[in-house]
Amino acid sequence: MDHIVSALPALESRHIDPHSYPAGVAFLDGQYLPISQARISVLDWGFLHSDATYDTVHVWNGRFFRLDLHIQRFFSGLERLRMSIPFTREQVAEILHNCVALSGHRAAYVEMLCTRGASPSFSRDPRDAINRFMAFAVPFGSVANAEQRERGLHVAISDRIRIPPASVDPAIKNYHWLDLVRGLYDAYDRNAETALLLDFNGNVAEGPGFNVFAVEQGTLVTPAVGVLAGITRRTVFELSSELGLDCKAVDVGVDTLKRADEVFITSTAGGIMPVTVVDGSPIADGKVGPITRRLEQLYWDRHEDPAWSTPVTYPG
Ligand code: PLP
Repeated sequence: MDHIVSALPALESRHIDPHSYPAGVAFLDGQYLPISQARISVLDWGFLHSDATYDTVHVWNGRFFRLDLHIQRFFSGLERLRMSIPFTREQVAEILHNCVALSGHRAAYVEMLCTRGASPSFSRDPRDAINRFMAFAVPFGSVANAEQRERGLHVAISDRIRIPPASVDPAIKNYHWLDLVRGLYDAYDRNAETALLLDFNGNVAEGPGFNVFAVEQGTLVTPAVGVLAGITRRTVFELSSELGLDCKAVDVGVDTLKRADEVFITSTAGGIMPVTVVDGSPIADGKVGPITRRLEQLYWDRHEDPAWSTPVTYPG
């Protein structure tokens, strides 16, 4: 084997160079490792068949935001996929906490995931695979960058249909992203920055890593079916209720979105992010709306609230 490896030095070094990865810490097979050393088998069903579930929570100013809800959704996904891990919810919380504390990141993107795993005989039967839990913490990343958060994202409505719930249950957070990634490339081709995919009835569904809301005469609407029940989406329902705003999960047509007073997207990767252009045309006057800004402010303020956030204890 040695001569094969040495014949490909440039290719090999790219993957083992720790500087090819963001700074972070992973938990794998009972050990905490630098992210560059966290590796899984190419025979893992998670890699070969996207047979995996995961959840992402973030840490902001050294505090986890709504960690209990993310862990709850992760364990619900495990159960629905008939996977099991040798850790309780409390132990998973402790592992995530340790990944963040060891990484030193005060703003982190923290993922817990479980793959179907590999089997000793490369069996075709998923029941033979040994489920594999892992977790990691890397620097916080956002769907929208600072400029886009300031002036609003430019979004294209994709012709692609989001994978239907009858095929893959969107309540299970999953890596079936080929439709979303192809939607992104379509959007780039149309000079947009991200995409929204439709559901099987032609209504708006969701985008790569986010849910969407439209504001119409002070009422908020968000797609009801064919979408992940996002934790940020849920947070918007709760904050809207505190503000006395009506917020409903309904069918959202493309026209409703385009004629809305305000549009925004929601994700753990970025929070509440304004959209000001859809398919090349401005939403209302093309400026970020007041309800979006009010919710965004409230969302980040609540990251300090002990009812919704948990502090990380960093070493030293
Ligand atoms: N929809 C999809 C497909 C996602 O992958 C995500 C998050 O990754 C979301 C919506 C938003 O969910 P959350 O607010 O829980 O991050």
